[in-house]
Parts: sequence; C-alpha cells; structure tokens
Amino acid sequence: MTTAKESASVKKATTTRKKTTKTTKPATSVVQTSEPCEPCDTLGASLARHIRYGLCRDEHEKEELFTAVAESVKEQMLDNWRETRIKDNQYQQKQIAYLSLEFLMGRALGNALLSLDLTDEAQKVLTDYATTLEDLEQVEHDAGLGNGGLGRLAACFLDSCACLDLSVTGYGIRYQYGMFVQKIIDGYQVERPDRWLRHGNPWEVRIANRIVTVPFFGHTETYVDKDGRRHHVWTNTQNVLAVPYDMPIPGFNNGRINTLRLWKAEANDEFDLEEFNDGDYAEAVATKNLAEQITMVLYPNDASVNGKELRLRQQYFLSSASLQDLLARYVDQYGEDFSEFSRRNVMQLNDTHPSIAVPELMRLLMDKYGLGWNEAWDITSRSMAYTNHTLLPEALERWPVPMMKNMLPRIVEIIFEINARYLELVAHHWPGNIQKLADMSIIEEGPEQQIRMAYLAIVASFSVNGVAGLHTELLKQGLFSDFYQLWPHKFNNKTNGVTPRRWLAYCNPKLSGLITRRLGKEWITDLTHLAALNAFTSDKAFVKEWAEIKLTNKQALSEFVEQQCGVTFDPQMMFDVQVKRIHEYKRQLLNILHVIHLYRRILNGDTQGMAPRCVLIGGKAAPGYAMAKQIIKLANNVAHMVNSDPLVTPYLRMAFLPNYNVSAMEKICPGTDLSEQISTAGKEASGTGNMKFMMNGALTIGTLDGANIEMLEEVGKDNFFLFGLNAQEVAQTKAHYQPQQIIAESEALTGVMNMLKSGHFNLVEPGIFDHIIASIVDPFDQWMTAADFDSYRIAQENVSATYLDQAKWQQISIRNSAASGRFSSDNTISGYRDDIWMKK
Ligand SMILES: *Cc1c(COP(=O)(O)O)cnc(C)c1O
Repeated sequence: MTTAKESASVKKATTTRKKTTKTTKPATSVVQTSEPCEPCDTLGASLARHIRYGLCRDEHEKEELFTAVAESVKEQMLDNWRETRIKDNQYQQKQIAYLSLEFLMGRALGNALLSLDLTDEAQKVLTDYATTLEDLEQVEHDAGLGNGGLGRLAACFLDSCACLDLSVTGYGIRYQYGMFVQKIIDGYQVERPDRWLRHGNPWEVRIANRIVTVPFFGHTETYVDKDGRRHHVWTNTQNVLAVPYDMPIPGFNNGRINTLRLWKAEANDEFDLEEFNDGDYAEAVATKNLAEQITMVLYPNDASVNGKELRLRQQYFLSSASLQDLLARYVDQYGEDFSEFSRRNVMQLNDTHPSIAVPELMRLLMDKYGLGWNEAWDITSRSMAYTNHTLLPEALERWPVPMMKNMLPRIVEIIFEINARYLELVAHHWPGNIQKLADMSIIEEGPEQQIRMAYLAIVASFSVNGVAGLHTELLKQGLFSDFYQLWPHKFNNKTNGVTPRRWLAYCNPKLSGLITRRLGKEWITDLTHLAALNAFTSDKAFVKEWAEIKLTNKQALSEFVEQQCGVTFDPQMMFDVQVKRIHEYKRQLLNILHVIHLYRRILNGDTQGMAPRCVLIGGKAAPGYAMAKQIIKLANNVAHMVNSDPLVTPYLRMAFLPNYNVSAMEKICPGTDLSEQISTAGKEASGTGNMKFMMNGALTIGTLDGANIEMLEEVGKDNFFLFGLNAQEVAQTKAHYQPQQIIAESEALTGVMNMLKSGHFNLVEPGIFDHIIASIVDPFDQWMTAADFDSYRIAQENVSATYLDQAKWQQISIRNSAASGRFSSDNTISGYRDDIWMKK
C-alpha cells in the first residue's frame, strides 16, 4: 500500500532522525522537501480509480466495494491528516496522549462521511454501483477493541477532541481478535472469535518508520561511571517490535484529523542463535510467533481483573511503545533537553490498565536519556493524569511482585524506589502511624507481595478524576480517602458523556433532521442548544412528528429484533430496553424478575392499567463469569415462555439480543421508549448507555446511581422514573439485610420467587437456576435485588400509566432529549481541557 514516494520520504525521515541532535532541524523538515502534487480526486473519481486499479477485476463482492469506498474516503482525509500532523509535531498546542487498553470504535464509514460532510455525495456516487450507502455500511466489521463503557468512552472522547480542535492522540493495541462474537445456542452464551481484520482494515496505515522496541525479561546490572554516577542497565532482554498502525479521527467539518495509533507486536529478526545453530531453523522461527501473541486478543473482562501474565505484557507493551513514541517526537522538536516536556505533554491514563507507564517514563528518562531521579520524577509527576472508572474491589488491579520482577525487573526496582520516597511523605504527614504506611503503600504485603496499580497511578499523577459526581464523592470519602487527605488538590470530577455526532446526528437521521429544521444545526457541536426543544412540547405538529419518527425507528428496530432473535416486536407496544454488559451489579436480574411478575399478572387475568410492552435485553458476559452466563440463560428461557403463550403476547413479549455491540446500539437507541438504568446504587461509576437513550428521547427508569443522578437533575423528577435505595441506604442496609423477610412481606415478589422455584422456566433442565435463586435470598447479596423489587415494580406501574397517556409520554420524551445537552462528550472534554490538560 506504500507508494514509492512515501517510502522515499520514509527513508529520509529515518536518516534525518539519526542525525538529530539538540541543534539540527527536526525530522518534520522532511515534509518541506516533498513535491507539490495534484489536488486529490473527488470521492467519485477516487472510487472509480480504486475499483478499476485496486480490485483488479470487473466483478466484486460487497466486501470489496466497501473496501474501495473506505479507501476513497480515507484518501479524502490524507491532506488534512498530514497538515494536522505537521502542526502538532511543531507543538503548536499541548500534546495529549490518551492511553487506553481499549477503544470500542465500532464502524467508521458513516461517521467519517458525516464528519467530512460527504454523506450526500457518497449516496449519489453509489447509485452508479447498484447499491445504497445504508446497505454498504452494514458490510463494515465493527472495530470491537473494547469491552463496554470504558472502551466506548475512549472512542467518544477521540471524536470530541478532534471536534474541539485539540491535539489528542489515542494510543492503544491493535488486537487481532477484538471482543468475542456472542452466539446464543439453546439459550446459552457461546463465544466465537472476532476476526475483524480478516478482510483487511482499509482505514489503517502502517507506519514503518516509527517502529520501536519493547524489552521483556532479562536482568539488571549497575555500574558507576568515571564521574562517580551510578547507572542501571537492563540487559539480556527479549525484545519485541511495536509497529504502529494509524487510524484517522476526523473532526466535525473542521479540517482536523487526529490519530488513533494502535500497536502491533512483531518478532524482530534476532533469531534464537543457539537453536538456529542446532540446526533447528524452523523451531527458531516458530518461537518468534510468541512475540506476536502479545497483541493477539483483547481480554473480555469488564469490571473485573484477569491476572494473567499475558495481560501484564500487553499493558507494558502499550505503555512502553507509546512513551517511546512521545519522547522521540519531543526530541525531534526540542532535542534532549526535557525541561519543556511536562509543559508540552499530558498522558491521560484510562483506568489503571496503562499505569505501568509511570515507572516506564522514569526508566526511559533516567536509563535512556541520562536524567537524575529528581528531574525524571518532576517530569513524570507533572505529566501523568489518572481516570478511575470503578469502585468495585474485584476490578482494582494488583500485580504479584514475583511475576513482575521476572518480566520487568528494572520496572520493579523503580516502583520500589517510588514507593520508598513517597512513604517518607506519608510518614511525615501521619507521624508514628505505622498502619497508615501499610494501608497506603504501593506494595501490599502478604504471602505474596502485590503492586497496587491504582495507588501507583495516584502517587504519580497531578490529577485524579472520577467519572460522575457521586462516583468522585465515593472515591474521596471511601476508596481513596487517605489520598484525598494527603492531596485534596489532585481530585476532580469529570462526568462522562457521549458524542452527539454518532449517537444522534448519525444514528437517528430522522430525529436530527427534525431538530435541525426547528433549531438549525448548531446543536451538533453544541448540544446545549437542544434545550430549545422545550418550547415545542405544546406545538401539536411538532409533537406529532416527534412521535411518528419514534414509531418509524421502532419499526426499524423491530425488523432488527425479528432478524436477530426471531421474535416479533409490535411497534405499537412500549419498547423497554436494557442493553449493557451482563453483570450482577447492573441487575438484569431485577428486570427479568419484573418480566416474570408481569407474566404472572397476565396469566391471572390482571391486566388492568398494563401498557403492552416488548422487553429487550442484550449484552455479553465475561466468559469466566458463571452467574452472568446463568442470567443470560434465564432471560432466554423466560422470553421463550412469554412468547409462546398467545394469551400473553398481546401484553408482553421478550427477546434476548445476541452480540450487543456499537453498531447494534446505533439501531437500538433511536427505537427505544424506556431505558433501563437499574444498577445497585453506588456501584455504577457513571454509565453512558443511559445518555445515548436520553438524547434519542427515551424515558429512563433508574436508581440514584452514577450519571443517572445528574440526568435526573437536568430533566426534573417528573420526567424520570426513579426508584430504589440510594447509595447511603445500600451501605446502611448491608449489616442487617434480610431478603427472605422482604420477599415474605411482598406478595408480588413471593409469587415471582415461587414461580422461579417451581421450575416453570426450566422444566427440562431442573436445577439450572438454583444459584440465581440462592443469590436473591442470600443476606450477603451485595446487589440487593430483593430490596429494590417492590419499589421498581411500582415505578414500572407508573411507566405503564404514563405510556397509556401518549400525549404526556411524548412531551416527556421531548423534555428528555432537550435536557441531554450536558451529556455531550464535548462538554466532558472541555472539562478535561480546562481543568486538567491546560491547567498545569
Ligand atoms: C454505550 C455502550 C456501552 C456502555 O453501556 P452502559 O449502559 O453505560 O454500561 C457498552 N457497550 C456498548 C456497545 C455501548 O455502545
């Protein structure tokens, strides 16, 4: 794919960098020597060329046509991409590196066309190829390089950064296999590999002149030079090449094209000489594949850790490669004088996953560039910022010291030194308090020492943020309270958001068309404009059109459900949707219990005041999370019973949607009436699915958790179905929680539990739901499903009554969309920019 011209400049770039010293011109000067060239073709001409010269054949599959279209659209971005890169390499503004093990990008075509204002042109051009844009978009494989909210947040942030003209580079891993594909077989989740790169990735560009080397294993040595300075050498290492693949991140109609740089691990050509000399050439080559395993697969764990050694390798690989890249860029511009570094760069750590970047930056500055400890620490601690994403203890990363010592011996030395120096500060702050030292140490003592990655991140960062108001408060008062006492100035909140380009303008063209006709199109880049929709809640024509668009979107969603699940959803019924990772704290179980309750009522002939509804649940369970997988099976079995009774289906239908991902959500949120955000209070850090639904006019039933609290604040309690214990009540109830008694006192819940226990939903598979039943009646049930059941049921009755009053429902729908302006990721990123990135 590299042209002759490109490889010529690649060569030049390499030689220039070798010569670079403090005084010579930076490598970017190479671009000044490139010849002026013809302006790039129009989209249509470019596509014709790609089809004629790229496909080499007259017949082509849809896949190939898609590739040609994507290549053509990429071509439209290349000039601006290059200009953005040149500007940014000159540090015209501060450089932000967003370090994340996950980027859940989804499809790129529709979003790129929207950002480049080429959607209409693409539609026109494609009529020559006997297909529609809409059809072709469905051919693109989702880039599923993330688990859920955390990875999708990174993707929304990249969009907003480009839109706000910020120089932000996403650094991640180019997993060969993304998030697994979920099949449902006999009601059970089955995982299949996601070979998203099988047909190639037309968006990426391999950047051969930015390859770096990442060391593993080996041992450390020290020596003292002639000036009496001690040096550390990490030697005898096994080296892996990190090869960057760049993806363009277009801003919205503003000419900026940022970069998502994904690293692929490749073996270098240093054959294992011993094996080679033994004559086992093939074996020597084969072992090189071990290096490439590092970037083979995304770990499918959401909100829990996987302590596998390979995962630590991924984390170090990403951190080291990205920092080497940042330092090389800096040296190109400023030489090896690092006094400007922390004024010019910020590294934002997306959770603790890349927090090994802290000791790695220390290592590179000291061992590679010869800085002293204090100088290196000053730079590191002024350029790192950490975002926490969860309070769940099972998600807090700890790595065993012996494992890390073996894999990264020099890194462990540096962590111990950071810890020793930092504990002096703790001792000073709490004189004589030995317990504090143990509690706050980066090293957890025990039968096997562990490194607390969150503490490492906090100690080294100038900013620590939570992702919603409640979450940040709970961090300050609970999990990180000692650190908050020591460094209150480090802590801040940045409530999550989602990009209104993908999650409204692109995925809901009918609604965005209506909004634009009434408000103009400023809302696309300033979502607070949606507040003006409140003026139309009593405009009959507007409300009618609003309702008609929802109905059309429901028809489309119903076709999708039919095709994916074989269940018929009637668009006249309420679409009640819960899609997100399957986790006990998110309480899909509470939702299913409510479905069983409605089912019982219908069987008993008690349908008074019941709005007919279609319940959709979707989401993936971590493959090792047995309880989550049983919840999927229960959802499927309940759906089966509900849908097979013709007396029930006029009032209630249910489906489990397989393989929930970004492109599925693009079809789901425009067609949803009711959004389920029903986590146990205090457990969901923010949630972002809640915001996508709200923007698209869904009403929310939810607890006082995460960003729900702020959504409620914006829309008002009359327009939100609130229920359940709050976080404080959950905490207080813990000590004396008696679910058996709660069930006994609730007629509805008793009925539901009896039906479950009777085996009604698993007649041919006795006992399969015993664990689920036991978890509900367990006094130690952390998720307190029974505690919130009645409150949830009553809120759902209120939902029903409201839905039956369609005039009222549509008004509330408009008010929700109008109140969603604050949850644009543009707003969130403005906060990161002003309070974290530019503040120092
Ligand atoms: C938005 C989104 C999420 C996050 O959903 P929550 O309800 O906040 O957990 C997860 N997965 C996908 C595919 C998403 O689009």
